[in-house]
Amino acid sequence: MLSALALAVAAMIAIIALRYLLASGLFALATARVKPGLYAGLNPQIRKEIGWSLASAAIYGLPAGIIAWGWDNRGWTLIYSDIAAYPLWYWPLSILLFLFAHDTWFYWTHRLMHRPKWFRIAHAVHHASRPPTAWAAMSFHPIEALTGAIVLPLLVFIIPIHIAALGAVAGVMTVMGVTNHMGWEIFPRWFVHSRVGNWVITASHHQRHHDEYRCNYGLYFRFWDRLCKTDKGLAARYQAEHAAQPR
Ligand SMILES: [Zn+2]
Ligand SMILES: [Zn+2]
Repeated sequence: MLSALALAVAAMIAIIALRYLLASGLFALATARVKPGLYAGLNPQIRKEIGWSLASAAIYGLPAGIIAWGWDNRGWTLIYSDIAAYPLWYWPLSILLFLFAHDTWFYWTHRLMHRPKWFRIAHAVHHASRPPTAWAAMSFHPIEALTGAIVLPLLVFIIPIHIAALGAVAGVMTVMGVTNHMGWEIFPRWFVHSRVGNWVITASHHQRHHDEYRCNYGLYFRFWDRLCKTDKGLAARYQAEHAAQPR
């Protein structure tokens, strides 16, 4: 039993580390093509980003591995594999519920980590990326990594979710984590300024958090930032970039 658990944890660490390397590697390659020279001179920083991110992958893999082991052997979570177990409309709704719950947790723990004492201990590592790159997606101090690592493994005990929907949540988490840090806006101007785009966090929004620290704390949505008046809108250089783009 214990060896199966150890195997599940080791497998999840490997999967999360590979997922990080592939996603960040892919978008770093895209960056080199779309914005050549954007990461010029940042190699020492990128090496640190990769180191912290791989350490975070190990931390994320521990609770994820326990869940994978438990789901396989005991059926103790609310993860389901029979798509007919819930109405079909629940499938996309469960993804939104997971993202919103994750976003809520992230917003409030993130604000806490911007208190000076906690910032020094747990969050300065993430902000050491100036400017962040595609490799900074999981560049967290182990304490911050732990706060992120427990979210999905706890939610699967509270909100029922189909296994593929959970995969979709992990996919969104991965892609947004990378693209929000890579230093340029991948989403088209019409989307960023659309009614939906106005509530979604992309690079234009998160970059401003890295530029100014005390605003734009959210992860996926601007709901909490708007509600708590911490939303300052998009980073200035993206506004200029957008203005220069044809509509
Ligand atoms: Zn960030
Ligand atoms: Zn921060």
